[in-house]
Amino acid sequence: MNLIELQGVAKSFSAADGSARTVLSSVDFELADGEIVALLGKSGSGKSTLLRIIAGLIPADHGRAAYRQQAIHRPVAGIAMVFQSFALFPWLTVQQNVELGLEAQGVPAAEREKRADAVLELIGLAGFGGALPRELSGGMKQRVGIARALVTNPDILLMDEAFSALDVLTGETLRNDMLALWDGDKIPTKGILIVSHNIEEAVMMADRIIILASDPGRIRDEVHIRLPRPRNADSVEVRALIDEVYGLMTQHPVQAAAAGAPESAHAGYRLPATDVSRIEGVLDMLAGAPFNGHADLPRLAEEAELPDEELFPTYEALALLGLAHVDHGDIHLTPLGQHYVDADQVRKQEMFGQQLLTHVPLAAHIRRDLESEPSGTLPDKRYLELLEEFFEAEEAQRVLEVAIEWGRYGEVYGYDFHTSRLTLPESETA
Ligand code: ADP
Ligand code: MG
Repeated sequence: MNLIELQGVAKSFSAADGSARTVLSSVDFELADGEIVALLGKSGSGKSTLLRIIAGLIPADHGRAAYRQQAIHRPVAGIAMVFQSFALFPWLTVQQNVELGLEAQGVPAAEREKRADAVLELIGLAGFGGALPRELSGGMKQRVGIARALVTNPDILLMDEAFSALDVLTGETLRNDMLALWDGDKIPTKGILIVSHNIEEAVMMADRIIILASDPGRIRDEVHIRLPRPRNADSVEVRALIDEVYGLMTQHPVQAAAAGAPESAHAGYRLPATDVSRIEGVLDMLAGAPFNGHADLPRLAEEAELPDEELFPTYEALALLGLAHVDHGDIHLTPLGQHYVDADQVRKQEMFGQQLLTHVPLAAHIRRDLESEPSGTLPDKRYLELLEEFFEAEEAQRVLEVAIEWGRYGEVYGYDFHTSRLTLPESETA
């Protein structure tokens, strides 16, 4: 029996110029009774969009989304969602925040109070009903977010990076508490769909992992996990699964894209969310002992002590710039990467700039425009508008900021923060 069924679900949003941008293309998915499924994928691959379609918050453009055989057209009483940002009302007490979900369902006050008390107790917040959100730590705030979802006795729980905003230990504790409730049948919930950035988290929690590919978002891989819970993060089986998932997430090498495949070949490429110091930091770590140029990604992640959501964009940047190869869960330095590590600061920046011009069309495009501009300067707004043809405003801004940071470092162009103008680099105009 499937709780959720998606068939051929597609979703586009209109870009700034009015053209449609496909975010999800033809997604088929089922959530079975009794299942926890984790959804992994790069930032922007459409994970939240998929969850919002299932939650009935936005409609699909094509295909069918159903909950227990009923088409989903609007938020459904049996489906509750937990957000990364907690989404609590700051002026309401914990108790009032939790009761909100029941108010919407028209549950009388006395019963609301009783049920909120019970769920606060269940989630470890007994005695905190009168507190305001700002008096709570991040972990406790998210407990309130979870309580607000659970108080409706949801059939299905959707969790969108619910543990990502918390520090590692707090996130782990909360995740384990959730699993104990689920595995101990303490909650009536029949299915959980979690979106995560964290491979270990997905492997520790899920019965099945789905990996989304990006631009447009679609299902690329699926991994079944048949280990009983609670699982031991250090066990051979769990480590092997983590390895397998890392492998799947990196099996389509970014360098293929850099070599001219569609993803990075145009200005609308989603430059990875990382900065120069992280790129060089990971490169140095890879080059040094104990890796000496070749690492298993889970091992490198342990050594780097950085979360997957920071490491994956950094690997992508290294591959894009030709400094490393990433494939099947491994990363190794290219000969160019080795030169880079050995080079002095001036030479590093030169190499960075050269690679940028060769592999990042947006940077090359900006550079060309500046060269043909008599004043040698241009407002950044022009490129923001260009990027808004591909991305939402916030994402366009982020991509431009990456292009500016990288370009300044590689002395491909300069940027004046007072005037918001791009310029030819100082070294060349002087
Ligand atoms: P993820 O959760 O995997 O990071 P999202 O589902 O949030 O990805 O977003 C996927 C893409 O859809 C992103 O490029 C985002 O900018 C775009 N997008 C999401 N919501 C909207 C919207 N309301 N309008 C326009 N674009 C959107
Ligand atoms: Mg998201």
